[in-house]
Amino acid sequence: MRTKQFKSESKKLMDMMINSIYTHKEIFLRELISNASDALDKLYFKSLTDNSVGIAPDDFVIRLELDKDNRTLKVIDNGCGMTEEELDSNLGTIAKSGSYSFKNDNEKAENVDIIGQFGVGFYSAFMVSDEVEVKSKAFGSDSAFCWKSKGADGYTVEPCEKDTVGTEVTLKIRESTDDENYDEFLDQYRISSIVKKYSDYIRHPIKMKFTTKKPIEGKEGEYEDVVEDRTLNSMVPIWKKDKKDIKVEDYNNFYKEKFFDFTDPLRVIHTKTEGQATFTALLFIPEKPPFDYYTKEFEKGLQLYSSGVLIMDKCADLLPDYFSFVKGIIDSEDLSLNISREVLQHDAQLKLIAKTVEKKIKSELEKMLKTDRENYEKFFGSFGVQLKFGAYDGYGANKENLKDLLLFVSSRENKYVTLKEYTERMPESQTAIFYACGETKEKIDVLPQTDTVKAKGYELLYLTDNVDEFALKMLGEYDGKKFINICDNDFELGSEEEKKELNEQNEAAKDMLSSMKEILEGKINDVRFTAKLQNHPVCLTSEGGISLEMEKVLNSMPGAKNNAVKATLVLEINATHPIVEKLKTLYSDDKDTFGKYTKLLYDEACLISGKGLDNALEHSNLVCELML
Ligand code: ADP
Repeated sequence: MRTKQFKSESKKLMDMMINSIYTHKEIFLRELISNASDALDKLYFKSLTDNSVGIAPDDFVIRLELDKDNRTLKVIDNGCGMTEEELDSNLGTIAKSGSYSFKNDNEKAENVDIIGQFGVGFYSAFMVSDEVEVKSKAFGSDSAFCWKSKGADGYTVEPCEKDTVGTEVTLKIRESTDDENYDEFLDQYRISSIVKKYSDYIRHPIKMKFTTKKPIEGKEGEYEDVVEDRTLNSMVPIWKKDKKDIKVEDYNNFYKEKFFDFTDPLRVIHTKTEGQATFTALLFIPEKPPFDYYTKEFEKGLQLYSSGVLIMDKCADLLPDYFSFVKGIIDSEDLSLNISREVLQHDAQLKLIAKTVEKKIKSELEKMLKTDRENYEKFFGSFGVQLKFGAYDGYGANKENLKDLLLFVSSRENKYVTLKEYTERMPESQTAIFYACGETKEKIDVLPQTDTVKAKGYELLYLTDNVDEFALKMLGEYDGKKFINICDNDFELGSEEEKKELNEQNEAAKDMLSSMKEILEGKINDVRFTAKLQNHPVCLTSEGGISLEMEKVLNSMPGAKNNAVKATLVLEINATHPIVEKLKTLYSDDKDTFGKYTKLLYDEACLISGKGLDNALEHSNLVCELML
C-alpha cells in the first residue's frame, strides 16, 4: 500500500501542529466535535426528505470513548460519513479554500491566526496524538475506509470493516513529557470539562461512559466502579439561555469557535424581539476584518435558525452591505423549516427581521461611539471604509442613516472626529466644512492651501481613503454646512472686499494671464490670481466637481482606460507673491523667458499638488536653461 503525501502547504501546517506551538491544545476536541456535529446535521437534513436515512431525530449522537490502557480517545458520530475520495480530499489537504503564506513558522501569533482564519480543525488532533485513524462509512455506500496518519510523513487510505454509517476518529494520545502533560486528555473529568467549556451548545448529545466509585452497601470502606452513560453538554444553544446565566467569556468562546476568529468581538448584541416578528438575535461586532473581508470572495450573512434548527448558514438578506462585517445568528419561530432560499428572499417576516436587526446594529454602534470611544475607533479602523462606502452607495440612499457613524481624521488634534463634533466647534466665521485629499496626512499637510486653513484657525479633515471624497460629495452637506475641498477652485476664505480687489487685479492683468493660459494649452483651463495662498507662489485647483483625487480613483477602476475622466484644472498664482511683479516685467520685456517661467510655475504647482510632472525631462531642461 502506498503512503500518500500531504499537499505541500498542508505539510507545513502539519509540522506546525506536531510541534504544537498552539497554546490551547485542548481545542482539538472542540474541532473534532464540531466536525462530528456538522456531519450529523448533514444527515439530519437529508432525513427530513429521505426516509431511507432511518435515524430518528433524537438518535443522532456524538460519542466519546476513553481507553487509558491503550491511550486512545475516540470521537464517534453517526453522521453522513465520508467516501474513500472524501477521506482523501478532505483530510489530505488543509484549508483548500484559501491561498495563504506561512511567513514565519516560529512566530506564535501568526500561527494562531492561520489556525483561526482557515479552520484547520481536524489537523489540530496532531497536537495531542502521535497517530490518528479515521474510519468512515458514507451514507449510501456499502464499504467503509480507514484513513491513517502518523503526521508529516503522509497518510494511507484503505478499506476496512465498519457496520454503521458515520465516522470514528481514534487519537493515539502522546506520552507525557517533562514539559507537557498529555495524560489529562485521557481523564474523564478533564474531557468532560473541555466539552462543557467549548461545545456545550452543540445541539446533538455528546455522550460518554463515566466511571464513578460508589460505596458498596453493607461493606464499610469498600467501593465499586459504577459505569453510567452521561450526556456532557446541555444542548441549549447559548442564544436561548437566559442572559444572566451567560458570562462574557461564554459569548466570546462561542463567537470565536463559530465564526473562526481568534480575537474577542468588540461588542455582543443579544436580544429577544417580540411583536410583529418574534426572534432572538445574537450578533457580534468583530474587532478585525477577516482576511477576505475586502475581497470579492467575502460573503456576508447571518446564520438563520428556525426554532433552534439551522436552516441557512449565510443569510445575506438579513444584513445591509454597510453592516456586512456583523456576524451572528437569528433564531425565529416564525420561519418554516423547509423554506427554500428563493422563497425566503421574499418572505415578509424575514424582511421585518432584517429591518429590526439593522436598527439594533445601528443603535449599538451609536452607543459604542458615545460611551466607548476607544473601541469605536478600533472598529472604525477596521470597517470604516465599509460605512463610508455605504453612505455613497445607491446614490446616497442610506446617507442619513450612516452620516453620524462616520469618523474622519482632523487637523485639530490629529484625531478622529465625527461630523457633529466638527460642526459644533466651528468658529462663527467658518461657513463650510473643509477637507483635503491625499495619499497620506503628511502629503496633505504640505499643500499650500492647508496653511491657509490652519492660519485661520479652521479645522481640516484629512481624506486618505479612496472612497472618502465620494462619500462626502454624496452627503453634500452636514447640518447645513457644505463640504469644501480646499483644492477646489472655489475655495476662498477672503472677505467680499478682498474678493473685489482680487477681481480687479485679475482684470488688470487679463492679457498676461490669457497668454499664460495659451502657453499651457491642453493642461489647464484657466490661470488666475488668488488670495488663498500664504507663502507659496502657486497652487493647482480643480473646478467642476471632479478633483484630482477623484480623477485618480476613477481612472484606476477596471475598464476606465477607454473612458478616462479628467479633472478641470486651474493654475492659481499668489497675488501677493513677488513672482507676480517678475512675471509682469518679463511679459513686457522678454516673452521667451516669460514662457519658460510659466511652464516652471505650472510644474511647481503639479509637484506640490501631488499630481506629479507631465514631462520630467522637459522640466529638467528648463531649469538648466535658466541656471545658465
Ligand atoms: P473544516 O471543518 O474547517 O472544513 P477540517 O479539517 O476540520 O476543516 O475538516 C475537513 C473536512 O473533512 C470537513 O469539511 C468535512 O467535510 C470532513 N470531515 C471532517 N470530520 C468529519 C466527520 N466526522 N464526518 C464527516 N466529514 C468530516
